[in-house]
Amino acid sequence: MLRPYEEMAYGPRPIEASYWRETVTEAEVPRWPESEGDIRCDVVVVGGGYTGLSAALDLAEVGADVVVLEAEAPGWGASGRNGGFCCLGGAKLSPAALERRYGAEDAARFFDAEKLAVDLVAERLDRHGIAADVHSNGETLLAHRASDVRGLEVEAREVSARFGVRCEVLNRTDLVAHGMASEEFHGALTTPIGFALNPLKYALGLARAASEAGARIFAASSAQTITEEGGGWRVETARSVVRAAKLLMATNGYGSDDIPKWMAGRFLPVQTNILVTREMTEGELAEQGWTSNQMCYDTRHLLHYFRLMPNRRMLFGLRGAMRATQAAHEEVRAMARADFERIFPAWRKVETPYFWSGFVAMSRDLTPFAGPLDGLENAFGAMCYHGNGVAMGSYAGARLADLALGRPQRQPLPDLMRRAPPRFPFGRHRRVILPLTYRWYRLLDTI
Ligand SMILES: Cc1cc2nc3c(=O)[nH]c(=O)nc-3n(C[C@H](O)[C@H](O)[C@H](O)COP(=O)(O)OP(=O)(O)OC[C@H]3O[C@@H](n4cnc5c(N)ncnc54)[C@H](O)[C@@H]3O)c2cc1C
Repeated sequence: MLRPYEEMAYGPRPIEASYWRETVTEAEVPRWPESEGDIRCDVVVVGGGYTGLSAALDLAEVGADVVVLEAEAPGWGASGRNGGFCCLGGAKLSPAALERRYGAEDAARFFDAEKLAVDLVAERLDRHGIAADVHSNGETLLAHRASDVRGLEVEAREVSARFGVRCEVLNRTDLVAHGMASEEFHGALTTPIGFALNPLKYALGLARAASEAGARIFAASSAQTITEEGGGWRVETARSVVRAAKLLMATNGYGSDDIPKWMAGRFLPVQTNILVTREMTEGELAEQGWTSNQMCYDTRHLLHYFRLMPNRRMLFGLRGAMRATQAAHEEVRAMARADFERIFPAWRKVETPYFWSGFVAMSRDLTPFAGPLDGLENAFGAMCYHGNGVAMGSYAGARLADLALGRPQRQPLPDLMRRAPPRFPFGRHRRVILPLTYRWYRLLDTI
């Protein structure tokens, strides 16, 4: 398999100290079978994260015979290890840049999709009885510079108009009153759309729902070759050959450049990391003045994202390393801990026993993709949510199901998402662009 990072990134090491694995019992993690022998189906889905599972659920619910092939286990990738922010997003371009580049009409379709994506997750949790420790009323953007506060007021007006909600801007004094005290932040903008969830419980719940609807889900079943055969698709795993009329690629940051070759250079995996504290006492929370359960992120380009979970553990995420080695992992752990202590100085003595990493995926044009694999018949894919795939990945999966069924889209699929992602320069070595990009972002964050 041709993949852009060191092997460590694709193995168990990055999630050995994941918190989420401790929040589910053995009994809650089904033992999915490995795929074996000759299998025929209508649709084969490669990848068992939110994208693939969401597509499989919708397909199975209308009676399609669907097979999901997952290299490890459902939710093993980013979907079972993320920060759990179910929120607006998916593109790395600002709304104004989206309008300039793709026109107001298509950009508006994308904004609708962002909101509908959040609604879709809420609906799925509810309809399938997925208990995912939900909290937070929308999300809060925190200004890391005093000069950013005025921008938040403008943004509040724009976001309120775009989504028909009432955003709230807080000044520094309000922040303290709202239980969000940190010298680091000068003001905030709260958008009342979205909520936080336990990402692994959501992924396992989706897998259960898809399976109950009739999808056949296989674990330890890595697609090793994918080839066209008689107008359909033939996918080989170590112990099976799966033949399907339609192919859906849902491998996101864990994909490879050769399975199938169409994927080569079209996505850039980027690591991001998360720390989780031990449970804190009410006294410790009061000492810092941070008691809010809002999910928050800051105005940096290289942003921090964090939320106090219902059990009073703080989850704290930030950008990851440019290499996937043990030394780089430890370096980011030290950086994460230093940032955590700077932002929450009263918690300097609070241990952070959990620390893990995973891949998000970026596209060269900085927009998410959900559409046909152009040039190939009966093949579709979705990826590149720029670190916002809890909602958008679920939504993109649902749109893939519509494409595979050949039925009109039941909800908007903007043209800007349908376009195949252009290839990055430098092929398999494309992550060489990251150091320069990070340096540029760091500069923008400090000036
Ligand atoms: C640390 C971290 C924090 C994040 N925080 C947030 C957040 O708070 N909010 C948010 O919205 N998003 C967040 N994200 C991003 C979000 O998790 C992803 O966008 C989303 O999970 C993508 O889902 P997916 O199904 O497309 O891909 P994944 O969940 O990555 O699934 C892809 C799957 O494909 C499988 N696969 C790969 N190759 C093959 C093959 N050849 N055969 C079979 N299977 C294969 C992999 O094993 C993997 O399980 C975060 C990501 C990370 C890593």
